[in-house]
Amino acid sequence: MSDIVIIPEPVKLKRLQGSFKINPQTVIFADEKLKSSAQAFVQLISPATGLNLPIKNYSSDSKQDNTIIFKKAGQSCGESYNLQVSHQNITICAGAEAGAFYAVQTLRQLLPAEIESSTKQQADWNIPAVEIEDCPRYQYRGMHLDVCRHYFSVDFIKKYIDLLAMHKFNYFHWHLTEDQGWRIEIKRYPQLSEVSAWRNEDGKKYGKIYTQDEIKEIVRYADVRHITVIPEIEMPGHSVAALAAFPNLSCTGRKFEVGTKWGVYEDVYCAGNDEVFEFLGNVIEEVISLFPGRYFHIGGDECKKIRWEQCPKCQERINKENLKDENELQHWFIEQFADLLKSNNKKLVGWDEILEGGTMKDVTVMSWRGTDGGVKAAKAGNPVIMTPCRYCYFDYKYRYLPNGPGIEVDQDKSQRTYSLNPDVPAELTASQAKNVIGVQGCLWTEHIKTAGEAELMSFPRMCELSEVAWTPQNQRNFKSYKQRIKIHLRRLDILGVSYYCEPEILD
Ligand SMILES: [Zn+2]
Repeated sequence: MSDIVIIPEPVKLKRLQGSFKINPQTVIFADEKLKSSAQAFVQLISPATGLNLPIKNYSSDSKQDNTIIFKKAGQSCGESYNLQVSHQNITICAGAEAGAFYAVQTLRQLLPAEIESSTKQQADWNIPAVEIEDCPRYQYRGMHLDVCRHYFSVDFIKKYIDLLAMHKFNYFHWHLTEDQGWRIEIKRYPQLSEVSAWRNEDGKKYGKIYTQDEIKEIVRYADVRHITVIPEIEMPGHSVAALAAFPNLSCTGRKFEVGTKWGVYEDVYCAGNDEVFEFLGNVIEEVISLFPGRYFHIGGDECKKIRWEQCPKCQERINKENLKDENELQHWFIEQFADLLKSNNKKLVGWDEILEGGTMKDVTVMSWRGTDGGVKAAKAGNPVIMTPCRYCYFDYKYRYLPNGPGIEVDQDKSQRTYSLNPDVPAELTASQAKNVIGVQGCLWTEHIKTAGEAELMSFPRMCELSEVAWTPQNQRNFKSYKQRIKIHLRRLDILGVSYYCEPEILD
């Protein structure tokens, strides 16, 4: 229906006659277990409407006119919800807070775009009468942010998380360590804050670290929005910033500077030195204490083997552990932490390289170099998150914005995000396809320097990905999406989000 624009598109939506109008007499009734979602709704609408609607306890006789009811009900999953809007009242049924929270995000998009304003607006706060039944296609719907190549403020990260929540994403993958900067305070190793967080950029110091208090603040902020934050501590590669503070953890022991060039470095953690495992074990222990979610990302990508080939300690490890070569050494390296994480009740996530050199049980694979790594992992029974770079790397330049930010790519290498079907059914049996637990968009920031550029590259690609992640495949339709995104962008305007809308979306 032309007056209804919801992104991601709900599973079932039926337009009914009339509309509900929010006014100063509207009362909210909420089941005790769904109260925080009712509060989220009040907070969301109060700046623009100037209303601070009261929330009362729900009981079965609460159904009166001019009410919004949050009612606990049995649902197939904690993220699903039913939403009924009539002329008299609004009823949200959800099995858990997450579902009620997504109903609130849907309600928000049923309200006029002015609801996004942070100041009071003159508008009729009408919500069209509808019946919606909704639940996500995938249990994992993620967005990533690299804060190492360029640092982004706590305020920006909160805005990013708000936008994720609006589009019903439930994971924020926070890339915290790199060759060019270490961004998470580890109290046991203050050198990481003093040395590894800073690089030389045109004669000036560039960098910053997130303090543990800031990290906790972001984790809490995300949690209220039903987003789990996944920390990523890269190993064994992409580790030059740490080696700058602790050269003894490298194979050569030579002096290092925090990386100043983009690309893949040859120096990595030494796999033959027990101090490396002690250091990373201590780091992981502190990081675990800050992130209550189940997933822990250890990177594992783009680890060059040249230092290991020449290092006596690494070669000794290969012999002692009966390994065939450096690929198996990398596999052995990761395995040490798989066990540590498991004993802490965490699930290890890594990029698709982690299955080179052998299979590993229970680890979750992010397939970035296309979908082949994910297909292989899904066949081996590993949970897979699809993040194929051609569709899901939002740092690729826009086709029609050659002078804009982002990385130069062959245009035939980049594909429209919307066209991704992460299950790749041709190569996987139905039961193997079930191992594909979701999708993720990645924002690497070598060529993205500011918050505005980060938004421009992410929007509206993130909106497209939200439908890949949420809406059933057989219901997705680019033509319908194109019509809706044009109207949806009005919300992003009011939210002060930069975006670039390609001509083929606007035609
Ligand atoms: Zn070594």
